[in-house]
Amino acid sequence: MAFYFDNASTTPVDPRVVERMNGCLSAEGTFGNPASTTHGFGWFASEEVEWARATVAEVIDADPREIVWTSGATEADNLAIRGVVDALCSERGRNRIVTLASEHKAVLDTCAHLTGCEVIILRPRSDGLIDLDALAEVLTDQTLLVSVMLVNNETGVVQPIQEIAKMAHQAGALMHSDLAQAVGKLEVSMRALDLDLASLSAHKTHGPKGVGALYVRRSSDVRVAEQQHGGGHERGMRSGTLPTHQLVGMAEAYRLAQQDFAAEYARVDQLRTRVVDAVLGLGDIQINGRKTVPHILNLTVQGVDAEPLMAAMPEIGLSTGSACNSATLEPSHVLQSMGLTRADGLSSVRMSFGRTTTLEAVDHLIHSFTEAVQSLRSRS
Ligand SMILES: *Cc1c(COP(=O)(O)O)cnc(C)c1O
Repeated sequence: MAFYFDNASTTPVDPRVVERMNGCLSAEGTFGNPASTTHGFGWFASEEVEWARATVAEVIDADPREIVWTSGATEADNLAIRGVVDALCSERGRNRIVTLASEHKAVLDTCAHLTGCEVIILRPRSDGLIDLDALAEVLTDQTLLVSVMLVNNETGVVQPIQEIAKMAHQAGALMHSDLAQAVGKLEVSMRALDLDLASLSAHKTHGPKGVGALYVRRSSDVRVAEQQHGGGHERGMRSGTLPTHQLVGMAEAYRLAQQDFAAEYARVDQLRTRVVDAVLGLGDIQINGRKTVPHILNLTVQGVDAEPLMAAMPEIGLSTGSACNSATLEPSHVLQSMGLTRADGLSSVRMSFGRTTTLEAVDHLIHSFTEAVQSLRSRS
């Protein structure tokens, strides 16, 4: 038996999503090119694509015309940041981009590759939350864009996006947020959050990998320059034949996440509480981050390295808070940005829960984790 606790890295596709996707692939299904306008094969595929667009828009409280399909949140982050810089930097005479050191690499590395921009990377506080006073200081008439994620993928910390967006807008800047981890874990509304741009992904929410979207607010102030050239699909913002099965899969996954939201949130919250109560009883274990969603639990286990800890329970699928950079193991940049020492960073693990996480699996996790921690501690 194996037990999966790495839902923040990806989730299994819901069988209801698989079924929906299967209907869009073979000769009996809607396999046509949605851009073909000369026959029914194309029209039916186009109808599916527009159903998917309307469904995703409805789940995030947006207009269907505000959805631009992409290959995932990585591409959406790239398109948002590079697209805004290309379209608006010189026109507005603003070249400052503000982001947080705990953002996903898709945001941080995109910012690192911008030319002609001044990128300001703020450090979060030790609890993982943004320092709003520090933000206020760097919002000037030079600020073009602010990019801060809603739910952090390593700690689950929820940033005060409404307040950040309000401050960005008061300074005349645009607001982008990476929502890859937010959909299904929180109720997200583009209107309530007051976002100009938002990145979405399907596979963190029991949909397929390789598909996502960029929300682009319909407003003359918000413009995004295309980053790949071609047939001019997606109103010129993102060329490429639309993958009907992927888009329908994403939409069905989002629809299910919304449909089951309240019950699923409460269920995951109970599972998390069960884990927290059990593991904190072991002593010398800290939870990293405050104001988190229940689905992600990041722990520092004092005196125990994450690598041998995970090796001691091979049937449990966990993740370190660390990224393996070729030969050297580096502590997670997110935990480092919160001020954790290198040693504490390397003693941290992330447990993340999803729709397929059962109470039985959680009890296995607690049992294996307790034994592994006690045994490794008694050896040192
Ligand atoms: C997974 C993830 C991404 C990357 O999404 P893809 O769809 O895999 O490209 C970006 N940002 C966050 C916060 C994520 O968790």
